[in-house]
Amino acid sequence: MNSEIIAVGSELLLGQIANTNGQFLSQQLAPLGINVYYHTVVGDNKLRLQEAIKQAKKRANLIIITGGLGPTKDDLTKETVAELLNCSLVYHEPSMEQIESFFKNSKRPMTENNKKQALVINTATVLNNDNGMAPGMAIYHEGVHYMLLPGPPKELKPMFINYGQAYLIANLHEQAVIHSRVLRFFGIGEAKLEEVLIDLIEFQSNPTIAPLAGDGEVMLRLTAKHNDKAKALLLLDELEAKIQTRVGKFLYGYDDTSLMKELVNRLLAKKLTIASAESLTGGMFSQELTDFSGVSEVFSSGVVSYSNEMKEKILSVSKNTLAEYGAVSSECAIEMAQGVKKLCETDIGISFTGVAGPNQHEGKNVGTIYIGVALPNGESKSFSLNLSGTRWQIRERTVKFGCYYLLKEL
Ligand code: ATP
Ligand code: MG
Repeated sequence: MNSEIIAVGSELLLGQIANTNGQFLSQQLAPLGINVYYHTVVGDNKLRLQEAIKQAKKRANLIIITGGLGPTKDDLTKETVAELLNCSLVYHEPSMEQIESFFKNSKRPMTENNKKQALVINTATVLNNDNGMAPGMAIYHEGVHYMLLPGPPKELKPMFINYGQAYLIANLHEQAVIHSRVLRFFGIGEAKLEEVLIDLIEFQSNPTIAPLAGDGEVMLRLTAKHNDKAKALLLLDELEAKIQTRVGKFLYGYDDTSLMKELVNRLLAKKLTIASAESLTGGMFSQELTDFSGVSEVFSSGVVSYSNEMKEKILSVSKNTLAEYGAVSSECAIEMAQGVKKLCETDIGISFTGVAGPNQHEGKNVGTIYIGVALPNGESKSFSLNLSGTRWQIRERTVKFGCYYLLKEL
């Protein structure tokens, strides 16, 4: 919520008084979470006040106007606002009675122009003046809240604290619905994602786009503000559609999800069972998979086959493959996936083999990874990667890539 404070009074422009009302209101608005972007001071002049309000409503959704609510000819705030908003002025009975009783009690004759103080904008919420005669007002018009407060600080301060604040809390916070959505991407770097979306990121306003980097993945937080929740969601949908056309193939989920969570949900939804054969990841895949309760319906077993001997013995990887291509190879990954699928009699087998580092292995560089998948339709595939990072990061990312590839296949 962005606000602007307009102080009305030629005395302010002449330097006879300082705009302490502006200062007070700014101090009050900050804790309510309302941004104050402009303070404007304008003289007691209808045309210039109109110009100031027109300018303010282009950039604020709360405009607070102080001063000029009194009985004299130079007090023209409410008349100006009423005209601008196409509203009429009506007598507010309780304020009228308050004014009459004030004159009765002080035994002074009430002049005709004092009645003018009881005039309020017909659509306004009236803010009582407990310390003077002119009531304040709050009006909502075309997406903008206007609040009119009297000039004298001893009237303005209690009015704002006792009535103005409550109006703002009740209206602004409820109406400015903030809705956000996190889009999660995998297989694309943060820099690349930003480059592809740079125009959207640079010209963002509502919704806003904030890129966030996670471990091996990137997220975009889209945040929309709108009085109407359905409209806020629509704004998010529109922006997401634009993003999808450019990088949709890397999008894997929303909000608090993870690649593993998406995979588990997919396996459960499709009633597909899985077994894993892990070399460099040493069981990390099955450990992360078993973080989810209910996964027993789909997860049968995980084999950690670190040595070549066990790859052969347990998973039936052929001697020939190990001799010819090595354990860190596409061929070995496929045979490991097929082997574990057969051994555990599941719908899917997944395997991980590679060099986690810090040293080379079989003459292959650190970060050389092969992920094998044996699919329900009998097809088998392998995916190769060249990852960088520490030993732990390489293994973590390998697991994520495994989830990602499998998700794409299912
Ligand atoms: P009144 O009924 O007293 O005429 P009003 O709402 O019409 O009140 P103004 O006539 O604009 O308000 O100002 C009345 C007095 O309030 C000023 O003489 C000044 O003392 C004080 N005042 C007005 N504006 C401010 C301001 N922005 N900051 C501090 N004091 C102010
Ligand atoms: Mg006045």
